[in-house]
Amino acid sequence: MQKGSWMNSKKNVAKDSDEQGLFIVISAPSGAGKTSICKGVLKMLPNVRFSVSYTTRPPRPGEENGKDYYFISKQEFKKRIVEGEFAEWAENYGYLYGTSGKAMKDFLERGCDLILDIDPRGAKELMKNYPEGIFVFILPPSIDELKVRLRRRGFEEKEVIERRYKRAMGEIKEIIWYDYVIVNDSLQIAIDNLRSIYVAEKSRRERLAEKIKDFM
Ligand code: 5GP
Repeated sequence: MQKGSWMNSKKNVAKDSDEQGLFIVISAPSGAGKTSICKGVLKMLPNVRFSVSYTTRPPRPGEENGKDYYFISKQEFKKRIVEGEFAEWAENYGYLYGTSGKAMKDFLERGCDLILDIDPRGAKELMKNYPEGIFVFILPPSIDELKVRLRRRGFEEKEVIERRYKRAMGEIKEIIWYDYVIVNDSLQIAIDNLRSIYVAEKSRRERLAEKIKDFM
């Protein structure tokens, strides 16, 4: 995922804009290419940040604390649930994942735009409290290709891949309430599509109300 923590980035010190930031929630079954698409679009859009989630999952090789996730213990995660830290949280494959509501609010109020990587259950919960979010679902090109990609990931055992496949099929059913769908046939086109969604949403009249007021 995008490198650069919410809290430590120099970019976050100043207020970026008078407008409230927007946020895009990306969901996809594993193997759909979500991480590569997010990385690609974040490179193209320097004003958009990646929302770093909290998780109790141990880091995978190459993952860094504060960049890919905040890796915390289950005990710490549960404490944060009680304290009301999370705008949403969910359990995936025995591990807990959550989005800090406070960090999210701070960024949006500063006019920063965010990309969040959240599974459909968490996304649905977030939508209840933040219906103004933009919800994007990424699909692999086909079911056969999804199977191939799940096998190629390499860092998991067969049984885990099988579970991910079953789960992926369940997650895809949730697509009906998302605003946009991107089919990841070609990584470059998928990145362009996500960028186009962002640009179109930034151009909505309602979002530019303050600017328009100056002309009235
Ligand atoms: P992974 O362990 O492969 O990085 O992620 C497993 C799943 O957790 C993915 O579906 C990913 O979208 C989801 N996930 C990552 N961060 C969050 C979060 O903050 N909240 C929720 N609900 N799911 C998350």
